[in-house]
Amino acid sequence: MENNIIPYGRQNITDEDIKAVVETLTSDFLTQGPKVAEFEKAFANYIGSKYAVAVNNATAGLHISVLALGLKPGERAITTPITFAASANCIRYAGGEVWFADIDPDTYLLSLEKTQELIESKPKGFFKGIIPVDFAGLPVNLEDFRKLARKHDLWIIEDACHAPGGYFFDSMEKKQMCGNGTYSDVGVFSFHPVKHIACGEGGMVTTNSESIYKKLLLLRTHGITKENMSENHGGWYYEMKELGFNFRLTDIQSALGITQLAKNEKGVIRRNEIAENYKKAFKDKIKYQSLPEDSYNAHHLFVIEVDDKKGLYDYLRKHNIFSQIHYIPVHKLPYYIEIGYGTADLSNSEQYYSKCISLPMYPTLSDKEQQLVIQKVLEFYHG
Ligand SMILES: *Cc1c(COP(=O)(O)O)cnc(C)c1O
Repeated sequence: MENNIIPYGRQNITDEDIKAVVETLTSDFLTQGPKVAEFEKAFANYIGSKYAVAVNNATAGLHISVLALGLKPGERAITTPITFAASANCIRYAGGEVWFADIDPDTYLLSLEKTQELIESKPKGFFKGIIPVDFAGLPVNLEDFRKLARKHDLWIIEDACHAPGGYFFDSMEKKQMCGNGTYSDVGVFSFHPVKHIACGEGGMVTTNSESIYKKLLLLRTHGITKENMSENHGGWYYEMKELGFNFRLTDIQSALGITQLAKNEKGVIRRNEIAENYKKAFKDKIKYQSLPEDSYNAHHLFVIEVDDKKGLYDYLRKHNIFSQIHYIPVHKLPYYIEIGYGTADLSNSEQYYSKCISLPMYPTLSDKEQQLVIQKVLEFYHG
């Protein structure tokens, strides 16, 4: 083979990251120590939210978000089919019903119009919430979704797992960072190594609401609180008020998260350089995710649409380039087919899935490697 394997995404761990982890390993706390709070504070500061709650992964973060917002068994929430399964599964964990609305065929984001149509086709109170996803790193315009949600009394969980560092400008020309909570109730981020910030496993839930913040803290740690300690209680006293979980992040992971977070802004700039190179090479030849005016894509992914994506996928693989598909529509996964979603009319999503392929996108992808990727893609189509 002429080149090393080029994956579609990879982490960037430096000596500084290693040093931070090793220092934590020899400190007093491996978990529930000072690094967790330090990471939460730094993250909230970066995103611009009031509160941040570190969790063991984003799936757990989505799970406790849905619970904190009060979804009850049998209640319904809406999400996009073009996402990782966890965006929908969190509704199921709470015993809720998942309803899918279709995507916009150019941005690949949950369509505001389709969501509105779905909501307005049902009686008032039918739905409780919406979970839009900043797919590939492209921010959902949450100002628009908030207007719709307000009208129908719905909560919004922004699945921002792809988008730390992404932003859009709202109608007041104010910059809105993904997950900052201006137009959503909570934002959720993932620190899986394939995402921007690598903790091994990890996640963060952001919010501006003190009451949601308190519920998230409770649910993260078994539903246990020491809040109601009085002078008559011994030092050991605590109360378990809800059936919570152990969804904590460790200090070891948090130490890594802190040094990783500090690199994110640069990483997103590099991701955008890479995106520009792809766009220049593919312009008028290959369709790629469109970028609405006033948006800055954090570019977890770079997605193109092609005929014969399996052919391209195999061809690239033969040349040690490991592209990926994001995503098999969630309503087409066997679990969701079995509970009755296989026949939902989500034609934009299915059309998209028939053509989508994600090309290598990560800050340490070299120009030379990227040129090889571009060359192989164009070669496959134009000989
Ligand atoms: C990765 C991802 C998740 C889940 O993240 P984990 O930290 O692996 O649990 C949820 N939603 C989206 C959109 C993701 O990409």
